[in-house]
Amino acid sequence: MTDLNVFEDAVARVERIGTAAGVAAEVIDALRQPKAVLTVDLPVRMDDGSTRHFLGYRCRYNDVLGPTKGGIRFHPDVNLEEVQALALWMSIKCAVVGIPFGGAKGGVIVHPKDLSRLELERLSRAYMRALADFVGPMIDIPAPDVYTNARIMGWMVDEYEIITRSKAPAVITGKPIALGGSLGRDEATGRGAFIVIQEFAKRKGLDPTQTRVALQGFGNAGYHVARLLDGAGYPIVAVSDSKGGIYSDTGFNIESLFQHKQDTRKLQGVYYDGANCELVDHQIISNEELLELDVDLLIPAALEGVITPENVDRIKAPIIAEVANGPIAGEVDQRLRERGTIVLPDVLTNAGGVTVSYFEWVQNLQSYSWTLEEVRARLYDILSRAFDDIWTIYQCDGGSIRDAAYTVALRRIAEAIESHGTYAFFSGD
Ligand code: GLU
Repeated sequence: MTDLNVFEDAVARVERIGTAAGVAAEVIDALRQPKAVLTVDLPVRMDDGSTRHFLGYRCRYNDVLGPTKGGIRFHPDVNLEEVQALALWMSIKCAVVGIPFGGAKGGVIVHPKDLSRLELERLSRAYMRALADFVGPMIDIPAPDVYTNARIMGWMVDEYEIITRSKAPAVITGKPIALGGSLGRDEATGRGAFIVIQEFAKRKGLDPTQTRVALQGFGNAGYHVARLLDGAGYPIVAVSDSKGGIYSDTGFNIESLFQHKQDTRKLQGVYYDGANCELVDHQIISNEELLELDVDLLIPAALEGVITPENVDRIKAPIIAEVANGPIAGEVDQRLRERGTIVLPDVLTNAGGVTVSYFEWVQNLQSYSWTLEEVRARLYDILSRAFDDIWTIYQCDGGSIRDAAYTVALRRIAEAIESHGTYAFFSGD
């Protein structure tokens, strides 16, 4: 990115789209800064007896629509600006799909792969201990994000319940099923993205078999969206993870690729396994090369800021589906629109995860669990309705699909601010 940091870039996007959509200046003002931010030092006993200090954050961005909601990221590049940007995007995302949550995000600066399992558990528990007064089933509800998973959520909910001497499964989502997790939560982000891509394909008359896909990021979301697209006939011609990528003109069998990744722990392991006859011929490519491939649909499903002013003019795919949060820097939105590149924006495309988190929270509050079929059907209802709302504005206003999604969200937030009444006016909050 040029001179803007990721948070300033995220706020600038809200200002730009909100102003163009006629959203009241007071609403945009309310979204310029987070409601509350907690920075914590986490001393953790390592297996060798020493103590290491980790830095963690939690940001509750905006809560006019409900308790704040958003994941916890364990990654060496976590920083406060990034956490705030991600929390702002969560506020927009929850409003886009019309679920009763505000936005939040948390993170710890750590490379989880450097820790033993017990060190990781101690760190997860330390993080929840530091956060216990900041979160709660009706206040702020964390969930998994990059490099965190159901097991980590299980340790955290356990720690919270020890501290509060109560059972409180609704304090966190993305838990193991045995602790009140929801069926279908693990695949939800990928399934949501699949639904959004299919809704778009339906309206544009795209033929899946002629729509060649490149996928950057083969984590939970990337794997599930690729699996579902593969099943629907889309050729997945390129896949990458943090170690690099592979390309095949005829497309990959995603299930067998996933098995290899599980077995070898990295995608490039497939290159060295000559014994695997299920794999088609493939070429080794870098992550940068993957983004610039001449494909029909590009899916960035890893981290933010991968399409920037530096590489935007080399991106050839006419459609980009943002499965990661913030893969396209805000300052290149305009450039993509000018050249006619369609972007299915993150705040819609990856909203399946938080939508099923919402279902998990509802099930926990009701102490009643739904079947996988119910979860999938309700996910489809919510996302297809959100797609319709956005598409209607997109067709009328002629901006980008992102502009339309932000317009839906900002109008909902504006209506809630208005409905809250005048308390904030008198108190100056
Ligand atoms: N981390 C996911 C996201 O960015 C899910 C958040 C949640 O389920 O609360 O949308």
